[in-house]
Amino acid sequence: MDVHRALVFPVRWDAPALDWLLCEFRLLVNESIRIALREDIQSRARLARAAYEVLSRGHAVYKQYIPSAFEVALTVLKAHRRRLRRKKRSSVPYMRKLILKAENQSYRLDRETGRLRIPVRGTEGVQLQLPVSKWHRSYLSDPSWTLGSLSLVPGKVIFVVRKEAPRTYNPEGAIALDTNEDSLDGVVASDENMVSTSLAFGGVRRIQQTHFRRRRRLASKKAHDRRVLRRLLNREGQRERHRVRQRLHLASKRLVQFAKNGKSAIVLEDLRLHGSGGWSRRMNRRLSSWPRREIHRQIEYKAALAGVPVIKVNPAWTSKTCPVCGARRRDRVGQVFVCEMCDWEMDRQINAGLNILETALASNEVLARAVRFQPGALRHDVVSPLYDLSALPTGAREEPSGVE
Ligand SMILES: [Zn+2]
Repeated sequence: MDVHRALVFPVRWDAPALDWLLCEFRLLVNESIRIALREDIQSRARLARAAYEVLSRGHAVYKQYIPSAFEVALTVLKAHRRRLRRKKRSSVPYMRKLILKAENQSYRLDRETGRLRIPVRGTEGVQLQLPVSKWHRSYLSDPSWTLGSLSLVPGKVIFVVRKEAPRTYNPEGAIALDTNEDSLDGVVASDENMVSTSLAFGGVRRIQQTHFRRRRRLASKKAHDRRVLRRLLNREGQRERHRVRQRLHLASKRLVQFAKNGKSAIVLEDLRLHGSGGWSRRMNRRLSSWPRREIHRQIEYKAALAGVPVIKVNPAWTSKTCPVCGARRRDRVGQVFVCEMCDWEMDRQINAGLNILETALASNEVLARAVRFQPGALRHDVVSPLYDLSALPTGAREEPSGVE
């Protein structure tokens, strides 16, 4: 499996040749879209046969940009066709924004100095000096990351870098977590013991609330000027995402490190599937669900780089099922899940984590051999922050279960 990352560099330039190139590339994309639509083409090879000659004659750009434009055009068309298939409205696609896409054989980047050469036409090219930060350097000076395609948009250069992920180990335990607004909650389990745990994001919910209020205030104050409003809202949104992302990075890094130390698998719900125990509509409207997807994204790529297995399970019913007897509640579950059949009681978020683990064990043999599922061993009143757990719990170190 490949892991890829996007390296973004803010860049300003004063190079008319580059501005010209961006405009030409947009033309190439839009002409390719028209040709592909007219002749009902979906493959790169066919589009190249139908359009390369005419585009090559009409545009004096560096020739390798033409196949890149095909690629962009076909991506745009694919989204268009998907919308049509789903009977959604979609007008004939047209690329408005300026963009240039170049494959790695087209541009030249000095990974040491950050000097980038973008060919324009023939032997003519533009040199740009990228501001290489320490973070960028950690990728550029590591030869195991190979450079992929480059995208240039006004003000920004974006590289894709990729690397082959190490093989994941066979887990000797599991960390199963339910994803909430301001924390991941669930259990750490091995073949000997199970403890409830929580990994806090450190105020993400509060940040979201603050920014939500600010956005609403802006919206009422600047309602008369939509352009100003949009700009201010964008800035607010960027600040919020930045603050939230920082906290999530700390948490995801911690979790992956912890999992690796204990040779555990990380078990999460698959957020793309909709569970019946999902979040209410009101909640979705109030605070965006972006942080939940973002923390999963971070965990997944960090885990892939560290060789930590990640298992995703269907989240249906995870917050409404009793992990002991399997009974389901159809009504709203409060802060504490109480089973009407067997009297099992557990914090609802930890309970969801338990169900996520149980679902994973049912479908993953390796994990099922490594972990003993024993919810009865959990102490109801103790949730240890993941930060306090130094390793996988074992019977030897922990108090015998059920002491209370
Ligand atoms: Zn029960």
